[in-house]
Order: sequence, then structure tokens, then C-alpha cells
Amino acid sequence: MYLFKQKDTLDRHLSTARKNGKRIGFVPTMGALHQGHLSLIANAKENCDVVVCSIFVNPTQFNDPADFEKYPVTIDNDILQLTDAGTDVLFLPSVQEMYPDGLTVKTHYDFGQLETVLEGAHRPGHFQGVGQIVHKLLDLVKPDKLFMGQKDFQQCLIVNRLLKLIHSPAELVVCPTLREPDGLAMSSRNMRLNPAERQNALNIYKALIYVKDNIHIASFSEILNSAVNQLKMNKFDVDYLSLVSVEEDGTVTFPKEMSSRPLYLVVAAKEVSSGVRLIDNMQM
Ligand code: AMP
Repeated sequence: MYLFKQKDTLDRHLSTARKNGKRIGFVPTMGALHQGHLSLIANAKENCDVVVCSIFVNPTQFNDPADFEKYPVTIDNDILQLTDAGTDVLFLPSVQEMYPDGLTVKTHYDFGQLETVLEGAHRPGHFQGVGQIVHKLLDLVKPDKLFMGQKDFQQCLIVNRLLKLIHSPAELVVCPTLREPDGLAMSSRNMRLNPAERQNALNIYKALIYVKDNIHIASFSEILNSAVNQLKMNKFDVDYLSLVSVEEDGTVTFPKEMSSRPLYLVVAAKEVSSGVRLIDNMQM
């Protein structure tokens, strides 16, 4: 596996690959890698000739400085996992390399309604930060395909919109969420949970299953209220737990009953004892 820390050396390497007709698959991450990330690498390997992974904990997308400070960093282990997975290139830039002119936001992306609901409403500025870093990385890597996880439901919608806004030819491939054997969605933030908190975190998954199992039995609002109350009883601060659909134009709607459009339950809640905020979603 090639490891590049500078944009220009990565660019030179990928330009040669592109000239040789290689299709480039790109998996951007923030590191602290787990099987969920590796499933994206595997998908990219199946569909592309050269697989590029980036590891960069992007400061501009953290609306909570404490979350940024505590974000797990396990770079030696990440390198081992990526090598085993057959990754061709790892891009591991510094903050200075990605933001040579400082962290002040210069570009504003018009993500419209998507930035005002769910994660957008609870993490002000988060998606502008995501937009900045994904735009910079896309300009550099120029991938044929970009692989991202369904686990970050709204991020996938934002990136789809970004690709249109910046006229990128890259195709977004959304990959399924990998879960632990008991159902908890794999996440780098799970590393910050002690065994009791890790056990409690499972209530997020239980809430998804509860709603899925009861969706035809009572009204949406009754089921959602009941699921929120269960989470609260288990010491979660719930930011949102909502049933949503995605419209043709990429915006999110909040249906009150079943329709022909796919329906997703999306949840974000902080496990109070650890202070770790977890997100998950499931198609109903
Ligand atoms: P992160 O390092 O958390 O920014 O995630 C990097 C990529 O991995 C994003 O596209 C995530 O959606 C994806 N990802 C994170 N967790 C999972 C998971 N459990 N299953 C599949 N993909 C995931």
C-alpha cells in the first residue's frame, strides 16, 4: 500500500493511474477503522482498479470541540487493517495540508432543506464542514466512484447534492450498514463506550427494531413516542427519532402514514453516561 501525506505526491501517483486507464474508487474516512469501513474498501475493490482510502479527522465538521478532541485515533492499527484489506493507496494528510489558509469557512454550499432538518438542525455547520472536506478530496482524488455508508443516511444525501453542485462526474455508491453480532451499528465512537455503556447503546438498535415491528399496529406518532420514551428511560438524550422518506429532488419528508416511497427510521441520541452521541437508521 502506498502512503501519501502530501497532495502533490498523491496527485502525481493518481494521474499516472488515470492515464493508464485505471478506474479509481475512493473511501473517505476519519480513521479508527472497523469492519464497516473495510466493507466499503471491499466494495471499492470489487468495482474499481485502484482503491484510495483517506484518513482525516476533519476539524470543520465538528460542531462540538469536545467531540473533536475525543475522536479516537488508532493510526497504526488502521494501516494494518487497510493493508490486509488490499487497499492500494492511503492518503493521510495533516490539517495544514488540507486547510493551508486556515479553518475559516470560505465557500458556502446550498444544501437547502437538508441542512435544516435532523443532523442539520442538531449539528449547526456540520454539513458545511463535510461539504468542504469532501469537495477538496474529490478535486484531488477525482474518483470514478465514491463509496460511503448508509449508516450516515443524511450525509449520503448531502454528498449526492454536493456532487451535483460541483458538477462532479463521480458516482456515489451507498453501502449497507455493518452491525455487531447483537445489532449495534459499528462506529468509531463505540470505542469510547465502557462495557456497561456499550450494553446500553444497544437500546438504539432495539428502538429501530421496535418501530419496525410495530409500524403497522399503531399510528406513526404513537410508536415514535413510545420508542423515544424507552430511550429516555434508558438514559438517552434523544435529538430525533423520525420516520422519513427521500423525495425525487433529494429532500427529506416526514410522512404520517405508509406510502409507496421507501420509509426509513432515523435516530440520533446521546448515551448520557458516556456522553457519546450515536446515530443509526433502518429501512422500515
Ligand atoms: P467515518 O470514519 O465515521 O467518517 O466513516 C467513513 C465512512 O464509513 C462513511 O461513509 C460512513 O458512512 C461509513 N461507515 C461508518 N460506519 C459504518 C458501518 N457500520 N457500516 C458501513 N459503513 C460505515
